[in-house]
Amino acid sequence: MSCAIAFEHVTHRYPHATAVDDVSLRVEAGETVALIGPSGCGKSTLLKLAAGLVWPQQGSVVVTDRTLAPDNVLETRRRIGYVIQSGGLFPHLSAVDNVTLAARFLKRERDWIAQRVVELAELVQLPRDALERFPGNLSGGQRQRVSLMRSLMLDPAVLLLDEPLGALDPMVRHGLQEDLRRLFERLGKSVLLVTHDMAEAAFFSRNIVLMRDGKIVQRGTYRDLIDTPAEPFVNEFVKAQRGLHAEALDA
Ligand code: ADP
Repeated sequence: MSCAIAFEHVTHRYPHATAVDDVSLRVEAGETVALIGPSGCGKSTLLKLAAGLVWPQQGSVVVTDRTLAPDNVLETRRRIGYVIQSGGLFPHLSAVDNVTLAARFLKRERDWIAQRVVELAELVQLPRDALERFPGNLSGGQRQRVSLMRSLMLDPAVLLLDEPLGALDPMVRHGLQEDLRRLFERLGKSVLLVTHDMAEAAFFSRNIVLMRDGKIVQRGTYRDLIDTPAEPFVNEFVKAQRGLHAEALDA
């Protein structure tokens, strides 16, 4: 597999907004790409397009070398792990039942499932006793670890992470950032990650894609965005991100 995800001139319009406007973007196998940009610029919609949750009016979306179409989307989705900001866990199922839901639906062997749960809990560093709890009885950080386990259960080639750390307080967030990066390196997955935090984007990836109004404004490293901004907006965005830190230091 050479290309994990490819958006080819993709446009997606909602009734009152063009969320994604003629976007072309590739994520190579094993690569992590961080999507960043102001709220409403189309980041989540791009992830939903890759997961086949919404369909483009124009262009095509290729996942693991296959063009997404209604007749292959369910099968392709098994090669995708998807984590959203709130975790998206079913509240009436225990953590372990959330993690194993798809595998049980696909009638995987019980021993295989049990073994996989043990491996994944170790990988994401979730204490064993947390597995029996319901999402409402887990901390925010633990919930995201469970979501991550669920997304990895079927060993997908592609991970789509939509602000997976966005709802966490700074200390928990920092711990999970470190763990996530280690996990990406170790597993060699192809990752498309949404964040609104420039420092987090740079922490995870040398490939940062900055969007505005449904379009890609610039793709490059953190340095590239600072040193050679493609347009004034890039400068403004970087400055706005750094502004609060600078103000706090000056105070
Ligand atoms: P981001 O993830 O960058 O915040 P989104 O992809 O969520 O941006 O949204 C892009 C644009 O599409 C916004 O203008 C938003 O209001 C609109 N949008 C998103 N989801 C829907 C929806 N389900 N129905 C209608 N408009 C939507």
